[in-house]
Amino acid sequence: MAKIDELLGNAVTVAIAGHISPDGDCVGSCMGMYLYLKKNRPDIQADIYLEEVRDVFNYIACVEEVKAQADPEKVYDCLLVSDTSSPDRIGAAGKYLDTAREVVCIDHHITNEGFGGKNVINARASSASEVVCGLLDTERIDKDMATALYTGIIHDSGVLQYSNTSPDTLRMAAMLIDKGIHFSEIIDRSFYEKTFAQNRILGKVLETAQMYLGGQVIVGAVYPEDVTYYGIDKKDTDGIVSQLRLTRGIKAAVFLYPLEKDVFKVSLRANGNTDVSKVASVFGGGGHIKAAGCTLYGSAKEVKEKLLEELAKQMD
Ligand code: 5GP
Ligand code: MN
Repeated sequence: MAKIDELLGNAVTVAIAGHISPDGDCVGSCMGMYLYLKKNRPDIQADIYLEEVRDVFNYIACVEEVKAQADPEKVYDCLLVSDTSSPDRIGAAGKYLDTAREVVCIDHHITNEGFGGKNVINARASSASEVVCGLLDTERIDKDMATALYTGIIHDSGVLQYSNTSPDTLRMAAMLIDKGIHFSEIIDRSFYEKTFAQNRILGKVLETAQMYLGGQVIVGAVYPEDVTYYGIDKKDTDGIVSQLRLTRGIKAAVFLYPLEKDVFKVSLRANGNTDVSKVASVFGGGGHIKAAGCTLYGSAKEVKEKLLEELAKQMD
């Protein structure tokens, strides 16, 4: 019996959900699970709920079946949440937290306190997709499921490069490649390829980024006027913070995106020993030691100051 079968028990109706602004790991882990249940557990009626999925993930089978809105009338036996560090980050399907008979939480965020009745949280795993993959019967993973799960692993490990990549991650990636997936295309299409507007805003942010704390921290920001000038939205800025992190000598990279007037979404990345999940937690956010985020209120200048103060403490 695969671990997922034990976790689901006798549930007949299952809602699968991820976090708001779903990234590659969120989409990959949820879709991998969804496709697995759809094919291997015909006794289960599974639905998948995610906020708008970017069209770069259109190669994932059945992605058009994702529901963006929750149905207030529906009650599920099980709500299965993946890649979501806290219950307030569940998108539309957050409604089902109170009504589902069971909540199963599958994750890899160090700040996840385990909000499910059953929790499978491995903070050493590269991705939630890796955790999901470990719960499935390998023999029953097909090419479509492998495509989704590989997408998730690739995205959260920076194409098997970040320090969260373990021998287990690589063994799992090898197993998925053995299923016949088009791994090279998956990486190009969903990870590296950018639109012209995305490249331009990346250029703008890098050009105007500034160094603080004696060169230990780099801060890059999108300003409200950039959003209209470049015709972009938040999703177009994926990957900018990773590029900032590659600045020689820095210990932390900060990226600010204006959600509305005086509200910034903050992305943090660390090199070396700096723990940015602690900085994000101070402001009600969370994440991983080397990649975390939060939302901060105030002008760009005020937000920067607050973050630099906490980062300085963290780097002492
Ligand atoms: P990103 O900078 O790519 O948006 O997020 C980096 C990591 O931090 C992700 O694993 C993400 O789930 C987590 N994260 C980002 N923003 C928040 C937030 O506001 N709250 C929590 N709990 N985690 C966040
Ligand atoms: Mn993840």
